Amino acid sequence: MIRATAVRRAALFAVPAAALVMLGVAVPTVSGTTRGVVGSSASYQTAGDSLRGFSTASADRERALEALLAQRVNRDSTGAAFRVLTAEPHPAGSARNKVLADWVAEKYRAAGLEDVKLHRYDVYLPWPREVSVTMTAPTRYVATMKEDVVAADPDTKQDPGITYLGMTASGDVTGELVYASSGNPGDYDWLEAHGVSVKDKIVLVRYSVPYSYRGYKALVAQQRGAKALLIYSDPQEDGYRKGLTFPDGPYGPLSHIQRGSITYDFIVPGDPLTPGWASVDGAKRIPIAEARSAPTIMMAPISARDAAPLLEALTGPVAPASWQGALPFTYRVGAGPATVHVKIDMDGATRPIWVVEGRIKGSEEPDKYVVLGNHRDAWVFGGVDPSSGSATQLEMARVLGGLAKEGRRPRRSIVFASWDAEEWHLTGSTEWGEQFADDLRKNGIAYINVDGSTSGSNLQVGTVASLNHLVVETARDVTDPASGGSLLAAWGKSLAGEQAATIGGGASRTNAVRNTLDYPGNALGSGSDYTVFLNFLGLPVIEMSFGGPYGVYHSIYDDYYWMTHVGDPGFRYMATMADVWGRMALRLANADVYPFDFQLYASRVGGFIDAFARQTSNGRVALTAVRAAQRRWLTAGARLEAAQHAALAASPSAARTAALAAMNEALRQVEQQLLFVDGIPGRPWFKHALYAPKSTYAAMTLPGMREAADDKHWPLANAQALALAGRLDAAAAMVERAVAAAPR
Ligand SMILES: [Zn+2]
Repeated sequence: MIRATAVRRAALFAVPAAALVMLGVAVPTVSGTTRGVVGSSASYQTAGDSLRGFSTASADRERALEALLAQRVNRDSTGAAFRVLTAEPHPAGSARNKVLADWVAEKYRAAGLEDVKLHRYDVYLPWPREVSVTMTAPTRYVATMKEDVVAADPDTKQDPGITYLGMTASGDVTGELVYASSGNPGDYDWLEAHGVSVKDKIVLVRYSVPYSYRGYKALVAQQRGAKALLIYSDPQEDGYRKGLTFPDGPYGPLSHIQRGSITYDFIVPGDPLTPGWASVDGAKRIPIAEARSAPTIMMAPISARDAAPLLEALTGPVAPASWQGALPFTYRVGAGPATVHVKIDMDGATRPIWVVEGRIKGSEEPDKYVVLGNHRDAWVFGGVDPSSGSATQLEMARVLGGLAKEGRRPRRSIVFASWDAEEWHLTGSTEWGEQFADDLRKNGIAYINVDGSTSGSNLQVGTVASLNHLVVETARDVTDPASGGSLLAAWGKSLAGEQAATIGGGASRTNAVRNTLDYPGNALGSGSDYTVFLNFLGLPVIEMSFGGPYGVYHSIYDDYYWMTHVGDPGFRYMATMADVWGRMALRLANADVYPFDFQLYASRVGGFIDAFARQTSNGRVALTAVRAAQRRWLTAGARLEAAQHAALAASPSAARTAALAAMNEALRQVEQQLLFVDGIPGRPWFKHALYAPKSTYAAMTLPGMREAADDKHWPLANAQALALAGRLDAAAAMVERAVAAAPR
């Protein structure tokens, strides 16, 4: 997973004008642009104890089932699984991760899951033969590239192997060092303006808050002509400047190193050699030199302790105040006299990875299914990322599988997936999604991702807005282990203090939360396994975790000791996530009417359009057709609310059953209407018209026309606006089809 989840409330939007008109609120018009204004969004409040999509009788059955789920979720069994998962390093492609794949399959079978199988994919996964960083002038310093053993934590004595970044290029280079702060384009511009060129230099950057993906830093350095890039963790971001460090607290000690991949998977994720199709036996593979997602720059991660002598040896201009960090000297930018020799030798190999799959077959509509995924591979022990989520998933499988064995089967199927090589290029989920694309589009209902489930107690959820309602109702019904009250109430409190504690501290919010339905973030970026389901397949997705102060991400210290002493002693939140996740799955699997809210979704899209008109277009892009289509969708969404109520109240009959099936089939296909067949310009794999990740992994909304407008390519932007209008119209038509099919 990425450290500061880009799905988190990157932007919340005012209720759009069209919705306010429907509510009878006067809407001011400014320069011909209707603006969302503060208004009553009372119609979007979740009501009482309702279960969206359930008739009264079905809701009673569902509540009884969920009470059993909550009762049976057990902290001890969750913790026992977590101990096995974190016992040894288990990166993708390693023997240990295959052992764990077999073990997960065994746990799935023991839980009563059916059709349990391993899927093998052979993917580009080069490992290092050598990575070294040496300062050769003005003095000699050999970077240790190792983290300290911590006496209190015996696991840290294990050998984590060579420290490196996935997908780095190989080479042997020497050059003067330049410090470029976060390595964003503006940082290089500052350097240039101060007479410092990075051409053919070795560049040193730091991981940064607000977060930008390390692969983005690689791309920028590559474009600017650097010879190699080093990245370190400044104590200001995730170390002693933030608070107590491991083993006394959640933050990283001076020697901790953040590993990770630098794949350009914002261009195309998955195996770089099979962009857009599955890496199964006999599949066509392109040469790595032709892979658009493969960086050509050398890049290595170092600790703050190894970075300090290099940084301190720099002369040249004093770095701006915002570039200074927490190391005890004044940061200067160079170039030189520090000169650094970087040698990286990767083996260029393809390795097998293993996706484990199992399912609970539905009793009434077994072909239709919800997918629940978590990745298994870790950079080292994977305490938070991902083993907390893996333990959560196994606990949920144990309980839901047990209920099925007793005859309490969901109506529709629930598929469990343990992904592999997420840490590289979201690999396992992407290959599986590509392999089973036809079936997923035909039968998939939704995808719920939990990467790391727990680094604290603050619930964080990103989702498409059609599922806000489901998310909020679920949180309302789950008990927060700390307060003993509703998780929804605890969520509201943590949102109020959000800036203080998140995974990496990168959350930002541009609008106030108006009501509980605004708690989930609706700006989806990338950085975990939901990407293929949303952007390639057009399934509704949810991504969630419990977050908290977490400064050991992708280091050896993200382990069992950290979790049991700092992150989640007693496994309370890890187990609670099994309750949350399981309930969402059951509600999607058991609802009479799929619990999608397309009125709220359409109103969010209205917010995206308003923001685009204000910030980007300045009248250069004709938005009439886009706005008309959005209004049509919003109107259809409002009619769907009424149709749903009528459908749920209708008395049982064969006609009602048939009508509900037709209504559900239309509802299931709405998200898919938002896909462009050929993808967004320049990134054909990314097909969703509303969302694509930026190269930083942050969310970009309305990506086709926005990217064209950012490039001031107005003809393309206008063409993209028309294409977008077409997709919004198709979504509206599908909602209308559901309304027309509804029993009455
Ligand atoms: Zn992860």
